[in-house]
Amino acid sequence: MQTFTNLPWTARSWLEIPVNSDFSIQNLPFGIFSTSEARQPRVGLALGEFIIDTAVLFDAGMLAQVPGLSRELLYANSLNSLLSTGVSTWRALRVRVAELFTQGNNDVLKNADLHARVLVKQSQAQLYLPTKVSNYVDFYSSREHATNVGAMFRDPQNPLLPNWLHIPIGYNGRSSSIVPSGVAIQRPQGQLKNDADPAPTFGPTRQLDFELEMAFITGKQTQLGERIPTSATDEHIFGLALLNDWSARDIQRWEYVPLGPFLGKTFATSLSPWIVTLDALQPFRVEGPEQTVPVLPYLQTHGPQTYDIQLEVWLQSARMNEPIKVCHTNFRHMYWSMAQQLAHMTSNGTNIDIGDVYGSGTISGPTPDSYGSMLELCWKGTKPIDLPDGSQRKFIEDGDTVIMKGWAQKNGVRVGFGEVRTSVLAAN
Ligand code: MN
Repeated sequence: MQTFTNLPWTARSWLEIPVNSDFSIQNLPFGIFSTSEARQPRVGLALGEFIIDTAVLFDAGMLAQVPGLSRELLYANSLNSLLSTGVSTWRALRVRVAELFTQGNNDVLKNADLHARVLVKQSQAQLYLPTKVSNYVDFYSSREHATNVGAMFRDPQNPLLPNWLHIPIGYNGRSSSIVPSGVAIQRPQGQLKNDADPAPTFGPTRQLDFELEMAFITGKQTQLGERIPTSATDEHIFGLALLNDWSARDIQRWEYVPLGPFLGKTFATSLSPWIVTLDALQPFRVEGPEQTVPVLPYLQTHGPQTYDIQLEVWLQSARMNEPIKVCHTNFRHMYWSMAQQLAHMTSNGTNIDIGDVYGSGTISGPTPDSYGSMLELCWKGTKPIDLPDGSQRKFIEDGDTVIMKGWAQKNGVRVGFGEVRTSVLAAN
């Protein structure tokens, strides 16, 4: 069993942290950043409005007690090497950084030179994808989402396919087109065909959609032939991030039979820059929905398997001054847990790499304002959203910006993910 490490609820940082900041001292998520003065990408941990520069801490001798740590692991353009040294190293690094920045510790606070160099304003940093992603898989694990889509496109009386309650359904996505928050995406083009059209045409998608998802990122490799039981998945999951799994619904609808999603999905996927560790999320662990059909033994789990994470989607057109909220839901609604997803993924012996991204599938809740895609929020275009600029949306238009946010909160402590923010450019 995994032993998690967290700070007590009462711990506070000596650094002033804005009220409602996602990045409390209890959080300390990992990312990769650079600045215009120091262009080499390096490992940072977010705290309040700042990034703690671990490379500066290392060079100042403040991380000597972290086993297995070296300069090369921190001056790196991904977290992969650091993660490959094992949980004892990255966990000790996070614990040591927490210690240095908790009230009562003066090692950084009273060292004026170090204090000035170790904290970088997030607003002045360039943030990158946190890991080098070898594999990207996307699941389909929200019962509400699968039910909504099945009702819209197949049979409202019988929306779930027979396998859905037995298998955490997923497909292999495309890792090369995963982009970090802030990188604009281009409207994809592809084959389009309405039911009434005699033949397909080629052109820009008319149904560009977001999918509100979370992703877990793996921190430990397996070998080909190895399986991960549900009881051991926590040892392989480093942490979670926000994911916008962009979709072109019209391209997808025409191409997906019989082999599933392809070009309607692979043009872009947006990931938030900070990975919140499972350690930081443990206090927010909760039971997921009851599974109404018994699952096979290899998918059985014991104890709470999911997390109470509030999620929002905000939308802003080019003519709006600020975004409006179009969706509010919670990660805890997901029917299949991450443990079941990873156990299922590896049940055939496929190997996983460090830094892989496993998307949850669109996270839809039980109410119409908790649906995680425009497809569902506007119910296939029949219920458009009115924007304050006077326009309407059924899907995402050029110039629109989609912002996803997520956080867990309890006992006055907030552990959040920041945001994944993406603007859409016209087709090339
Ligand atoms: Mn998806």
